[in-house]
Amino acid sequence: MVEKRRLGSTEVAPIGQGTWHMELDDRASAIAALRRGLDVGMRHIDTAEMYGDGEVERIVGEAIEGRRDEVFLVSKVLPWNATRAGTRAACERSLARLGTDRLDLYLLHWPGEHPLEDTIAGLESLRRDGKIRAWGVSNFDAEDLERAVGIAGEGKVACNQVLYHLRERSIEHAVIPFCEKHGIAVVGYSPFGSGNFPSATSKGGRALAEVASAHGATPRQVALRFLVRLPSLFTIPKSSRLEHVVENAGAANLTLDQREIAAIDAAFPLGPPRRGVPVL
Ligand code: NAP
Repeated sequence: MVEKRRLGSTEVAPIGQGTWHMELDDRASAIAALRRGLDVGMRHIDTAEMYGDGEVERIVGEAIEGRRDEVFLVSKVLPWNATRAGTRAACERSLARLGTDRLDLYLLHWPGEHPLEDTIAGLESLRRDGKIRAWGVSNFDAEDLERAVGIAGEGKVACNQVLYHLRERSIEHAVIPFCEKHGIAVVGYSPFGSGNFPSATSKGGRALAEVASAHGATPRQVALRFLVRLPSLFTIPKSSRLEHVVENAGAANLTLDQREIAAIDAAFPLGPPRRGVPVL
């Protein structure tokens, strides 16, 4: 039984599936991988109108055909589309490409030029109409979040999706504390550094391998588990390969003790605070 955590109005497993750049992979493999991911409990699928210019939403649509009710489906509106009317139009286009009548979560991809008040009004009207179950933001720092909560009110921003991996832990300074205080889920993206995972011979790689071997697990499973060690955290590794998807899902069954968490923490130090949020 996979553990679940609150994300918007739903209980969702902490490890989901990303889809960025999937249009570059073999299409059948990507679809098979997403479906296998659903089979092994990774029901949170993250996509965006930006990915492959809509093509990735079509791939996801094929993958979830006939299985819509199993999926916690997330997409994102590009900031330059995020006027009140533009947010609705973008959402309608995403729904058509995904072959569904609703999203479980809809995110503003990053802060942009249009007034946040208008974007939030568009998101709220989509929610009232049942086109989306909840909405959130992405790449927001603590100040951006404060503004969003100020406009929308408490309890409206379901999540903030932000860069979070072992060598990029900046959100631990201000973003995670703000989100925890305001009941906003933190969805970490690029948990493997977008294909730049610590090598087995590096100091960090050796620390991961040591913890992994004690559990009969893999270093990537240990990394994923570390990245969801707090109840506010979720992660969305992307893979178009069946064996990788099964490995990633296996992290859900791992439990790290305080000594192991401290060892990983020491091998990948947090680093000083900086302005804004890091982006890929
Ligand atoms: P990632 O998940 O950190 O890494 C993906 C890479 O790791 C791919 O090359 C994948 O290759 C490989 N991989 C996955 N599982 C593996 C395993 N078990 N063993 C070996 N290699 C493995 O990178 P990401 O795609 O940048 O981030 C994840 C998701 O976050 C994205 O797909 C997207 O949905 C989201 N994201 C959001 C934003 C935003 O601005 N909100 C920005 C970036 C990403 P294979 O496919 O060959 O397995």
